[in-house]
Amino acid sequence: MAIIEEPRSSQEPTTDVAGRTDVSATVARVRAVYDSGRTRPIQWRVDQLQGLVRMLKQEEKRFADALASDVGKPMIEGFATDIAVTAGEIAYVAKHTARWAKPRKVSLPLSARPGKGYIVPEPLGVALVIAPWNYPIQLLLAPVAAAISAGNTVIAKPSELAPATSAALAELIPRYSDPEAIAVVEGDASVSTALLAERYDHIFFTGSTRVGRVVMEAAAKHLTPITLELGGKSPVLVDDSANIEVTGRRLAWGKWLNAGQTCVAPDYVLVSESRRDELVDSIRGAWAEFSGGDTRNTADYARIVTERHARRLQGLLADHGGTVAIGGAAEPEARYIEPTVIVDPNLSSPLMTEEIFGPILPVITVESMDEAVKFVNQRDKPLALYVFADDDAAADRLIDETSSGGSCINHVVLHLTPPELPFGGVGPSGTGRYHGRSGFDTFSNLRSVLRKKSTPDPKILYPPYTRLKERLIRRFL
Ligand code: NAD
Repeated sequence: MAIIEEPRSSQEPTTDVAGRTDVSATVARVRAVYDSGRTRPIQWRVDQLQGLVRMLKQEEKRFADALASDVGKPMIEGFATDIAVTAGEIAYVAKHTARWAKPRKVSLPLSARPGKGYIVPEPLGVALVIAPWNYPIQLLLAPVAAAISAGNTVIAKPSELAPATSAALAELIPRYSDPEAIAVVEGDASVSTALLAERYDHIFFTGSTRVGRVVMEAAAKHLTPITLELGGKSPVLVDDSANIEVTGRRLAWGKWLNAGQTCVAPDYVLVSESRRDELVDSIRGAWAEFSGGDTRNTADYARIVTERHARRLQGLLADHGGTVAIGGAAEPEARYIEPTVIVDPNLSSPLMTEEIFGPILPVITVESMDEAVKFVNQRDKPLALYVFADDDAAADRLIDETSSGGSCINHVVLHLTPPELPFGGVGPSGTGRYHGRSGFDTFSNLRSVLRKKSTPDPKILYPPYTRLKERLIRRFL
């Protein structure tokens, strides 16, 4: 298929008598397209990916407005973290798809020779992608692009909590790519439930641990392979050797971005008493600079997604038993939560037991980094773990002695931007990886093929098992 230059009209979803999208019919239609073989040629895959990149460029304003209306995202944040970064990832995937799709030769042991061994990446079939609201473009399109690059058809469900972005994606994706192979199904949890009742060849879910469990259960019914990109509490370990001014500014940025509603936002900080107050001062200074002195009214600070979510955060502010060192204001009806630092909250308070997912940063005083490591290792393995240290050996030790899906040393969040760093969690923070080639591999069946010629055909394998054969087999194996 040639590159689609002109926007197409979107394909009408099939509806049932009650007027709801008939999910089964949509999945059947998308499966028929997969079965037809249309999505296998590399050129088809690249055309779709280039169409999505073109969509992000040509429709930038529409998407930026939608992000602003959904989460009050500052224009530049929406552009950088949802639109540009996604276009960059998809362009990278489009550029490398042909190479990734080639058979990968492997060397053979003596016992398998003569012959050739190779891994053939083949598409899985129909993929379901379910996305959250916090980076609603990136977290829908990046997995969709990975699925397409591997030659699959896709059902994509954006989040109902970002309704303007969901509507834009549902309207525009079919105009810029093959609408029969990539179907966008909008809706809430009930639509997700209906979608999950169908059979897929891969399910890729990004969202909360709670819903992750629901998805895993649904997948188990059909033994469908899954990728779960979940959340949790991502800790920050600040070594005594850290540059505290820079550490404070980078942490302040990580919590400011999207008002802390980022899966890899720093959740809490562990620091020694000797550096703690200096760190809090640095964060305070950075937030004052970011806001120009008026956080409530600056256009550069996002809102909380809904009043309900803001009330949850207000609840965390009310019940922690620590000292509010910065901020603390909440106006849930305006979906506003002030960037806040709480020093030494009660470790059994919800602030320290739940994922915060908002602009509140607990700072916990520890005796030493050994205590910090112990603290982290006693809890669920996190999605991200951050280390701040100017002493390289100290940084290496903190990485070695802990575990997480990903890590950044001396910064936050940025480790998810290079396409060749696979992104994902570990244990309760997620299963599986994507971005760049790891995304292609996630949506592929990496099929192992051993190729032999009909001759020679040594009889050593075949009975009768003589002493001579046994000796030879022992030598070869
Ligand atoms: P969520 O789990 O509430 O919703 C995610 C998606 O699941 C939405 O599309 C929603 O419609 C659907 N859904 C909701 N209830 C469902 C149900 N009962 N059955 C089936 N589907 C259902 O998550 P959210 O509030 O949109 O996002 C916030 C969470 O996502 C946080 O925990 C955050 O850490 C996590 N997250 C993780 C990543 C990552 O890459 N690891 C990225 C962003 C967000």
